[in-house]
Amino acid sequence: MKKDEKKCPICNGEKEQGKVTFTVDLGTNLIVIRETPATVCSLCGEEWISDETAENIEAVVREAKMKNRMIEVVNFSLESVA
Ligand SMILES: [Zn+2]
Repeated sequence: MKKDEKKCPICNGEKEQGKVTFTVDLGTNLIVIRETPATVCSLCGEEWISDETAENIEAVVREAKMKNRMIEVVNFSLESVA
């Protein structure tokens, strides 16, 4: 494990927990995922997401692809998916 996980590897700034809007451009479809939990650098704005979050994003993308809309805007939470 890395020793300096709380420091940004790019600018050495402080990392903070936050929420970001994550955009996935599939070429034909654009999927915008709001309220995505992420770690954000307070200095340069670089964003990191956890493996768990990345898996959830994949699930959201799969769901959105099936709807086949040009632009799909969803919240990160999958709770509303029937
Ligand atoms: Zn930074």
